[in-house]
Amino acid sequence: MPVLRDIGVLATCRSPGGQGEIHTIPGAALAWRDGKIRWAGPQDELPAEYATEEPWDARGRLVVPGLVDCHTHLCFAGWRADEFEGRILGRSYLEIAEAGGGILSTVRATREASEAELLGRARAFLARMVQLGVTTVEGKSGYGLSIDEELKQLRVYARLAEEGPARVVPTLLAAHMVPPEYSEDREAYVRLIIDELIPRVAEQGLARCCDVFVEESAFTRREARLILEAGRAGGLLPKLHADQLTDGGGARLAAEVGAVSADHLEGISDDGVQALADAGVVAVSLPIATLYLNQRPIPARRLIDVGVPVAVATDFNPGSAPSYHLPFAMTLACNLQRMTPAEVLKGATLYAARAVGMEDRVGSLEPGKAADFAVIDSPSVDHWMYHFQPNACVLTVVGGSAAAGDLRTAD
Ligand SMILES: [Zn+2]
Repeated sequence: MPVLRDIGVLATCRSPGGQGEIHTIPGAALAWRDGKIRWAGPQDELPAEYATEEPWDARGRLVVPGLVDCHTHLCFAGWRADEFEGRILGRSYLEIAEAGGGILSTVRATREASEAELLGRARAFLARMVQLGVTTVEGKSGYGLSIDEELKQLRVYARLAEEGPARVVPTLLAAHMVPPEYSEDREAYVRLIIDELIPRVAEQGLARCCDVFVEESAFTRREARLILEAGRAGGLLPKLHADQLTDGGGARLAAEVGAVSADHLEGISDDGVQALADAGVVAVSLPIATLYLNQRPIPARRLIDVGVPVAVATDFNPGSAPSYHLPFAMTLACNLQRMTPAEVLKGATLYAARAVGMEDRVGSLEPGKAADFAVIDSPSVDHWMYHFQPNACVLTVVGGSAAAGDLRTAD
């Protein structure tokens, strides 16, 4: 297997230490075999057993773990550009929904699309994400809102995972909103999720996580608890969309149910911050959605100060975050959330992997973990996020094999 040499800075992002500790090694080399990292360290200490391996020359560039986008709604049909101007001009969510827009319009489009159409679109998005250095992507259902339609979305993710090269982590988000056909009997929809959908998803192995949108317009904490507990019984890791618009006690619920992550959190209370810290829940920040909805940012500094790991993801969806560009979200996290580039990198690698229950396999460059990494055309982590470029990634490697780009790309 090849050895990556002449790495200007290797940001390993291995686990010890806090949010800002990414354990960089200047002048590094990286060796892997059978898809897994075998050795990472200063090049002049490269063990003799790797010295004769085929060298790949990083040409002094930055190397980081493959980025992990731990919150996306990748599988959807249609767009909602028609709502964009309205939102800029101050139209409320309710007004947009009344005019036939909002999540429901994406539900209609996604239900109408064939599985093959959805697969083709999601595959194209995913290929571009890989070019940006992203190697693991979480994808949620939630635009089907019926048994057959939710399973259809999850099968798309299963196919993408099978095809590679990116690792795809599917999440059941049937509790995204109450579909119109159940508007008079929401309890029946919750029962459908718990009694029929979750058992089928679990039986077919179609999801790793189970997510609930806890919001006044979506699901209550009581409903969320029932759904997440049923998911857990079926082997699905609990996650929540929580406290996005106001503090609805979502963070506390995430702590109580032992969620792997609580996501959004722009409206989190001090009590919620402490609950996440005590329970060790990852807070997933979604700065593109914060920007598009013109919200106040998640209080990242407060979370970091009390030891909550803060992940950074895109929330890619056709409404509030119509971009799959994780490096864009990372630069926004620096500027909007006042996180340092090192903190952001750990949030888009190791902590993001933790938020999808994959920390034992991906998210850092250390022996035993997957050889997933990105070669970035930048002299440092700080410089990469400061000098925002359309795509600074020159090579993406997944499981030890090149997945996109070329190291010979001219500087
Ligand atoms: Zn979301």
